[in-house]
Amino acid sequence: MLDEVKGLNEECGIFGIFNSNEAAKLTYEGLHSLQHRGQEGAGIVSFDGDERHTYKGLGLLSSIFKDTTILDDLTGTSAIGHLRYATAGSHGLNNIQPFNFQLPNLDFSLAHNGNLTNAKTLKKELLNQNVEFVSDSDSEILGRLIEKSNENTFIEKIKSSLQKLRGGFAFILMTKDQMFAALDPNGFRPLVIGQKDDGSYVFCSETCALNQVHSTYIRDVEPGEIVYIENNQLKSCFYTAKTKLSVCSLEYVYFASSDSVIRGVSVHEARKEMGSNLAKEHPVNADVVLGVPNSSLSAALGYAKSSGIPYDMGMIKNQYIARTFIEPTQKKRERGVSMKLSVVRPVVEGKDVVLVDDSIVRGTTSRFIVKLLRDAGAKSIHVRIASPVLKYPCFYGVDIQTTNELIGANKTVDEIRQEIGADSLEYLSVDGLKQSINLNSDNEFSGLCTAYFDGKYPTKLYDYEAQLHQELEKINV
Ligand code: SF4
Repeated sequence: MLDEVKGLNEECGIFGIFNSNEAAKLTYEGLHSLQHRGQEGAGIVSFDGDERHTYKGLGLLSSIFKDTTILDDLTGTSAIGHLRYATAGSHGLNNIQPFNFQLPNLDFSLAHNGNLTNAKTLKKELLNQNVEFVSDSDSEILGRLIEKSNENTFIEKIKSSLQKLRGGFAFILMTKDQMFAALDPNGFRPLVIGQKDDGSYVFCSETCALNQVHSTYIRDVEPGEIVYIENNQLKSCFYTAKTKLSVCSLEYVYFASSDSVIRGVSVHEARKEMGSNLAKEHPVNADVVLGVPNSSLSAALGYAKSSGIPYDMGMIKNQYIARTFIEPTQKKRERGVSMKLSVVRPVVEGKDVVLVDDSIVRGTTSRFIVKLLRDAGAKSIHVRIASPVLKYPCFYGVDIQTTNELIGANKTVDEIRQEIGADSLEYLSVDGLKQSINLNSDNEFSGLCTAYFDGKYPTKLYDYEAQLHQELEKINV
């Protein structure tokens, strides 16, 4: 579905490059390919010998760095960058990353993707020790913990600080002569390592950014691992042995770019499998299969292939409309959808249509799309969702922490069908989703977090336990 209107948003994309003659420029390019992970603001920090250069702004990357000479001023051979979509903290410039920190004899910067589930507790402890915060983002906490750490070496300071964090997090940290990438013990968010032909190393959220900067994929960072570059060598250590892979399944369903590969599984292929399994679980007689552009097109192809019903491009997305999710009212959001999407009338007129979408959050956008298809003359519209019903809140880095806005938490599938005006509506099962991604992990979560769909949270929720309890009571679980 259209990310900007759906209200389901990922928190952040991160990128870092070490030992490159074009560090800031390549960071910009890498971030550009990760723009789908956050559109609220962006920043780049570079290190040039002992000096650090920072530039940040609000809005899309291309507008922040419209004046390309800004990148020329970010000198140095290493840089990290960040794209923000806020799940925690307010929307001001002070929350835009990377954040800069200072030890008595060492400057460092960091960029974070995810959400800490014990941020409130940690922040309270730090405030009690008179630590000052410049933002209200939970991402600042790791930096403040490192500053406060009594360990002797920087890597030991990072390790002991990471041991205190809970939740979903992927970090890239940089000093004047080192770079580090660290992942939470469940590996909720993707984080990969690559290398360019000139020997420079790249850390980033998704492999699509490695492709963008012409670097070769080396491997994913493992849960509980810190990968770092020292004397131009890639090194690794673990800050905890208590790890349990549970990658966010919504990365495969919706967040990640279709051309990315997460833990050896192509996002496009996984989405095609979701569509294919959806067709097997919920067949229907129809003339044509459509996908809601862009993230549902792979699943629509899979549905068509498996069902034998032809796929066609029945909907077009206008790429040049400014984002609409910040529009405060539903009416304005819907106007945004109508400006973004148009139907190719001859594809649907007089036809029984299968409309494949990746998910339904509030239901309002689906209702609008179904209406667009009816107005274009579709005879019947069968909505097929290539993921299970979204019923539970997420506390690991996605911005829905209450069930109020999730239509699937508050209505039955048939009630949702009526609300969106479809002739039929079906969802992929949780087993079908796991099978489609097939992560090759034999832990009880199949290597995936599916908590959004089944309420099985892979970790304790710390500061959020009471909130979850209230949410579950609301939906009578
Ligand atoms: S709860 Fe949902 S969105 Fe959050 S990490 Fe788990 S699968 Fe992803």
